[in-house]
Amino acid sequence: QAKSEARHSLMLFSADMNQRTEARAALEQALKHALQQGQLSLHYQPQVNSDATLSLHGVEALMRWQHPAWGWVPPDRFIPVAEESGLIHPMTRWLLDECCRQLAQWRHQGLTVPRVALNLSARSFHQPEFAQLVESALRRHGIAPGDLVLEITESVMMDTRSVTAANLERLHALGLVFSLDDFGTGYSSLSYLHRLPIGELKLDKSFVQDLSTSPTARALTLSVMSLAQSLGKTLVAEGVETREQQDWLQAQGRPVLQGYLFSRPMPATALTAWMQGHTAPVIASPLTPG
Ligand code: C2E
Ligand code: MG
Ligand code: MG
Ligand code: MG
Repeated sequence: QAKSEARHSLMLFSADMNQRTEARAALEQALKHALQQGQLSLHYQPQVNSDATLSLHGVEALMRWQHPAWGWVPPDRFIPVAEESGLIHPMTRWLLDECCRQLAQWRHQGLTVPRVALNLSARSFHQPEFAQLVESALRRHGIAPGDLVLEITESVMMDTRSVTAANLERLHALGLVFSLDDFGTGYSSLSYLHRLPIGELKLDKSFVQDLSTSPTARALTLSVMSLAQSLGKTLVAEGVETREQQDWLQAQGRPVLQGYLFSRPMPATALTAWMQGHTAPVIASPLTPG
């Protein structure tokens, strides 16, 4: 009996494996189609400066996929599939082009969006022609290299491949800014912070979310903020959802803030209205008595 149970569970296990492999294959097929059919889009989330008007520092582009039957598929589900299948390469080409095109369009409309940050996979840096791809997207839309921020993770920094180093150097030489995303969650060997051209640290949202309950989160946040300050790097706190979190962070320094408190990621067309609503109270307040 024990034997048949074991065999039974083995069968269940492999049936589950098959299902998962199939689901992944279906996702991959659908994603390929999505790219060709224009089902991918970008949403943009504002990042604000710690000044009196909470002026716009920039926006982060976040990829969105609306499947006709499945609805919205979260990036945490489709990005890993894209990375494993190699689809990430055409997707990143589209991402680069779309960010530059959008930034040029906002400026053409007279909207002051200082910069656009976009997320890159470590895989992109394995392509020898990657830096050139970025360069040609910038040139195609007349965007200055300093107006694009490339968000990378510690896995890129730890990558010892010469092709990765060459891409990083070339892009830095061109004037692009690198931002270290999800900072504090990786294997931070801090030595790469001075070896490599990082302009910005993005404190992971898990720290921000635990600020009110965890003394450890507060201590780590403080040390990351002072690290950024002493190295002369911009610090972005992501995942700011409450006024308490904003106040605490601003009592410690002048970080750039990003999170639902200011805005959820939104389509490009919604940014115009958001910027009007965002600046209106600031302009109105001196005219409003008491
Ligand atoms: P990320 O780059 O760390 O982006 C931050 C994530 O936090 C986004 O999730 C954003 O919508 C979410 N977020 C922003 N503010 C708040 C907040 O106040 N509270 C909470 N709880 N969440 C907040 P999203 O859009 O689902 O993206 C998840 C991840 O997928 C991103 O993490 C990034 O690693 C990846 N990703 C998204 N777009 C792209 C892309 O175009 N290319 C690549 N390679 N990866 C992407
Ligand atoms: Mg990011
Ligand atoms: Mg992040
Ligand atoms: Mg992340």
